[in-house]
Amino acid sequence: MRLLKDFDQKDLTAIGKELYRFATDLYPVCRSITGDGIRQTLAAIQNRIPLQISEVATGTEVFDWTVPKEWNIRDAYIKDGHGKRVVDFQRCNLHVLNYSTPIRKKMPLRELSPHLFSIPERPDWIPYRTSYYQENWGFCLSHNQMLSLEDGEYDVCVDSTLADGHLTYGECYFPGRSTDEVLISCHACHPSLANDNLSGLSVATSLAQLLSGRKLRYSYRFVFVPGTIGAITWLARNQEEVASIRHGLVLTGIGDNGGFHYKKSRRGNTEIDRAAAHVMKHCGEPSEVLDFSPYGYDERQYCSPGFNLPVGCLMRSVWGTFPEYHTSADNLDFIHPMQLARSLRVCVGIVDVLENNRRYRNLSPYCEPQLGKRNLYRSTGGESIGTEINARLWLLNLSDGENSLLDIAERSGLPFPTINNATELLCQGGLLAAVHEGEASESATAGISPKH
Ligand SMILES: [Zn+2]
Repeated sequence: MRLLKDFDQKDLTAIGKELYRFATDLYPVCRSITGDGIRQTLAAIQNRIPLQISEVATGTEVFDWTVPKEWNIRDAYIKDGHGKRVVDFQRCNLHVLNYSTPIRKKMPLRELSPHLFSIPERPDWIPYRTSYYQENWGFCLSHNQMLSLEDGEYDVCVDSTLADGHLTYGECYFPGRSTDEVLISCHACHPSLANDNLSGLSVATSLAQLLSGRKLRYSYRFVFVPGTIGAITWLARNQEEVASIRHGLVLTGIGDNGGFHYKKSRRGNTEIDRAAAHVMKHCGEPSEVLDFSPYGYDERQYCSPGFNLPVGCLMRSVWGTFPEYHTSADNLDFIHPMQLARSLRVCVGIVDVLENNRRYRNLSPYCEPQLGKRNLYRSTGGESIGTEINARLWLLNLSDGENSLLDIAERSGLPFPTINNATELLCQGGLLAAVHEGEASESATAGISPKH
């Protein structure tokens, strides 16, 4: 499968514009871990890819957790004594504490104040706050706005409902030749925040579109879930099936100007960990590999000890390390079309490694085979002849049935696509043969014979 090659034929600028447009479309929706905001978001994704939507009833027990009541909101405001909306949910959905219980009451500022949240260090930004598991009501506002509130009576309204209903998530599955799966997971529960959730949703949706209709080695499963409780719910309902997951990626925060960060799976040295690190290293942008830690996004659930799945997390700037995180400054100016497109390219590169990473056997292993007489001492025009020959020599030397193409790419320092291109050529030239999947490595080595 030549996913990356095909991708590189496309116009990256146009791809970036499209990714950004989808994030822009989803930006105004007031999402939460349940309710119509996440339904609307999943419906928009479903317009692009075949998404199966599941509804799980409030009160359903999922491991140590319980699916909460469903939250929906129509309006929220604080009106001053003149009836003017000084804080208005209609202008920005971050103004309401996410999961705020309903309230309609006139009250003095001192009664209102404990329910107001701001960030004194960033006086122009509105914080994003939630109260999912402790019933509370509240408003988030800029610190400057908070300071401007004068003593007096305020008319406070949160027109929300918190009632028995459902938790909603979406899933999209593309079968491959193998039932072994690659999992791509995104959280879809944040309201108007662009990098934190929309960048991941947009890139994952496009990745699914790119895989749709292709002949795939692995089966691919994309899940779009509310953070934490959604991943827990999905895992609880698929406890047996997740044994098929061979590789997984949580995608989030991949639209900003930061370099790439890949957080390794709990196991730390799985194929996805190595593939992600390899692709990032050669992507032309700064990148860093981080060790696993039990906090972050939904990799926490996938990597909990009972599952211990090979799932890592791909980000640009790491959550919590940039001031815009969980504030109104994580807006559509904070993400960029080209950054989204380059992130998608890294994801495509990782899938390309997973799809093509196999072991091969050198069929002429006694001394170097003579490349010239097989017309293999020539350039294919892809890279410099030096790099191409180098890749062929590395492949011939290390293809003993034990080393995978990723092993060879890592050891040679050459990018995986260069190694992969050379593999094709050497197979055509009769010098390499793939070791059949599932074939024991010992027999592969024993199969080397001088007669070839
Ligand atoms: Zn977040």
